[in-house]
Amino acid sequence: MERPPLRLDAAGERLRLLHVHAHPDDESSKGAASTARYVAEGVEVMVATCTGGERGSILNPAMDRPDILANIGEIRRAEMDRARSILGIEQVWLGFVDSGLPEGDPLPPLPEGCFALVDLDVAVGRLVEVIRRFRPQVMTTYDENGGYPHPDHIRCHEISVAAFDAAADPERYPEAGEPWQVAKLYYHLSFHWHRFAALNHAMIEAGLESPYAERLATWERKPEDEQRLTTRVESADYFAVRDQALLAHATQIDPEGPWFSVPLEIHRHAWPTEDYQLVRSVVDSPLPEDDLFAGVAVSADGRVPSAASRVPT
Ligand SMILES: [Zn+2]
Repeated sequence: MERPPLRLDAAGERLRLLHVHAHPDDESSKGAASTARYVAEGVEVMVATCTGGERGSILNPAMDRPDILANIGEIRRAEMDRARSILGIEQVWLGFVDSGLPEGDPLPPLPEGCFALVDLDVAVGRLVEVIRRFRPQVMTTYDENGGYPHPDHIRCHEISVAAFDAAADPERYPEAGEPWQVAKLYYHLSFHWHRFAALNHAMIEAGLESPYAERLATWERKPEDEQRLTTRVESADYFAVRDQALLAHATQIDPEGPWFSVPLEIHRHAWPTEDYQLVRSVVDSPLPEDDLFAGVAVSADGRVPSAASRVPT
């Protein structure tokens, strides 16, 4: 399908999408194919990265060397530069320090000064400043569980939800710029049962070993989780770009590892979308949706398609 070169909102402004992520690499492992698709459609995409990923483990055996570990902060910045140019995005660092993933029983205390321990109002203020400067119509973050329970991911969720409200409130952070109302807020929903089940089925059909079999066998299905899926963004044409962006984070991604165990052709057919949950909206857009900008972007006839509001508020 032919797409217009530039998509606009009702005010005639370019569409802008802000992803808030905890670490460098999260922008490539969650929503990266839909990011690449929106960039191709002329949407401006900004990633705000909360921390420098300084306490991330090296997850690629080929990169697990003392010289890399000694310079991990610098190396991860360079990896982020490559991923940024592959995805065609803008990116800002919020400047907080990685909290690390606490392990052990009992869990050790979080390191002093880390992102998860920074005063919430301070962290929200930095994101509010980014929102008011970039003025996105749409914003994404993680759900209340962080997508997975890393303290930086949970903190990322907390500051994103708080900043969504605060950015629009002229009483909050008056020094951080003119108030801006983001129209829609989404959670990434990459790791859900229906997607894993579809990929698992397709792998078995193709006579290949499924990397999901074990996970699905012990999966506790919860109706409240399965009702989260509101929005599926077709992005199969950009899965290859996503993979390139992931590989740019060489210390974090093992090219031989599970990220790449499903052949692209199978993935494209079995589950061609990246998925989201719409959690806040100030515009009408009927659910389910296939576009993060539904209710915001004008259609070819110059109108914003709208329908009876079934949007959660
Ligand atoms: Zn992360």
